[in-house]
Amino acid sequence: MADTLTPEQRSERMGRIRGKDTKPEMIVRRLVHGMGYRYRLHRRDLPGCPDLVFPRYRKVLFVHGCFWHCHPDPMCKLARLPKSRLDFWQPKLEGNRRRDGENEAAILALNWRFMIVWECELKDTQSLAKKIKSFLEEENK
Ligand SMILES: [Zn+2]
Repeated sequence: MADTLTPEQRSERMGRIRGKDTKPEMIVRRLVHGMGYRYRLHRRDLPGCPDLVFPRYRKVLFVHGCFWHCHPDPMCKLARLPKSRLDFWQPKLEGNRRRDGENEAAILALNWRFMIVWECELKDTQSLAKKIKSFLEEENK
């Protein structure tokens, strides 16, 4: 059979073989791929090296772990701070949040648009798919 896989699909398959397919980023990739959108991965020339890049739309998705990126939703259980070693965690997490903010501003300044997919949103892929679709189809202002 002819090898018709793109390098991205191949590494995705390899990832699956290695059992990494529960990673939030992989779930989002598969979801978006299934919706019929094509994307590039980790374009290093864009601020923050976004996880999924849609050049035709000038849009990117960041897939964020709720803990590491401090999901600001008070309902998010994954973003709760640990009870111990706060002096260790807090500066780290604040640094992450600051960097995210800088990257987001830089993306907008380049006239691209971004959306953040939070890890906890993966529990409901149906509404996540809707959200991604309206983000991608929305006209850039
Ligand atoms: Zn969350």
